[in-house]
Amino acid sequence: MTLIEKLENNVRLTQEDGVALYDLDVLVLAKYANKIRETKHGKKTYYNVNRHINPTNICKDVCHFCAYSASRKNPKPYTLKHEEIMDTVKNSVKNGIKEVHIVSAHNPETGLEWYLEIFAKIKKEYPNLHVKALTAAEIHFLSEQYDKSHEDIINLMIQNGVDSMPGGGAEIFDEDIRKRICGGKVTSEQWLDIHKIWHEKGKESNATMLFGHIETRESRIDHMIRLRTLQDKTNGFNAFIPLVYQKENNFLKVTDFPTANEILKTFAISRIMLDNIPHLKAYWVTSTIKLALIAQEFGANDLDGTIEKESINSAAGAQSANGMAQDSFTSLIKNSGFIPVERDSLYNEL
Ligand code: SF4
Repeated sequence: MTLIEKLENNVRLTQEDGVALYDLDVLVLAKYANKIRETKHGKKTYYNVNRHINPTNICKDVCHFCAYSASRKNPKPYTLKHEEIMDTVKNSVKNGIKEVHIVSAHNPETGLEWYLEIFAKIKKEYPNLHVKALTAAEIHFLSEQYDKSHEDIINLMIQNGVDSMPGGGAEIFDEDIRKRICGGKVTSEQWLDIHKIWHEKGKESNATMLFGHIETRESRIDHMIRLRTLQDKTNGFNAFIPLVYQKENNFLKVTDFPTANEILKTFAISRIMLDNIPHLKAYWVTSTIKLALIAQEFGANDLDGTIEKESINSAAGAQSANGMAQDSFTSLIKNSGFIPVERDSLYNEL
C-alpha cells in the first residue's frame, strides 16, 4: 500500500511512514489532517479562559533551551509567596477564568509543602476552579528532592486538589538529543511512566513536544509514536501540543529555525500520526497567533486560551507576556472561518 493509499484508508502509520509524510506537499498534508479534524470536531475551535502562574524561576536543572530559569542570562530570581499567588488567583477569578495553570522551575529551597499546599488553598477558596499543575518534570524533581516515589507525589497532588496535569517537560524523547538539550532532568521513560501512573488514577493530562531546535524529523515521529503507544494503554491524554522552540536568551546554539512550512507540516503530521489523541492544540504563545490561526487548517482544533499572563516562553522571546482579551481571541477564530467554543479544562463545552 502506498502512503497516499494508507492516508485515504485511515491506516495507522509507522515510524517510516511518519518521516515520509514530510516529503509530501504541505497542502496535501493539510487535506488529510483537516479531514481528521473535521471528522472529530467539525469547524469548532476550542479555547479556555485561563491564567498561567509561574511561582518561581529558581531551578536546580539547566536546560539549554530555557530562558526562564534564573541564570546569568536571566539574573532575576524570584519565588512568590502563597499570599501573592492567592491575590493573583483572586483577581483572575474576577476576570472570569475557569482554570489556573501552575508550573514552575525546580526550586530546591522552598520545601515540598510550598509546592503542594497552594493547590489546597486555591481549591478551598475556589472549589469550581480547575487546577492544572505540576509537569512530569516537576513531579520527578519533587520525588528526588524529597525522597518519595512518583506515585507518592501524585497521591499528594490529588489530595491537595490538583485536577489535571499539564503536558510540559516532554521536550523530545530521543535520548541522545534529550541529553544535549536537557540532560539531568526527567528522562523520557520516567516522563511517560509518570503520565501512566496519573492516568491509572483516572486523571487526564496533556502532552507536549518541543521542536525547531536540534531535533530531527525522525525524532519528532519517534516522540509521537511513544505517546501514541502509551495512549493505546491508558487513553488519558486529552491534547497533543507541539511547541515551537523560542530562540532568545538561552544557551542552545541553534542557527536553523523551522520555516512556517515546516511548522505547519509538523502540526498536520501530528494530527495524522496521533490517531488516538482527541485534540491538537496550536499553542499560540510559541507559534505566534497568526500561525496558530493558520494551523486550524492543518489539523489544530484548540488554541489554548487567553492566558492572561505568561512568563516562561515570553522570557525566550514569545509575544505572550500579557495574554489576550477574550473578545479579540474569539473574533480572530471567527474571522478565520472557524467556530470558537469555550471549553473547560477537560474539553466539556461551556
Ligand atoms: S526548562 Fe524547567 S527544568 Fe529546565 S532549566 Fe528551565 S525551569 Fe528548570
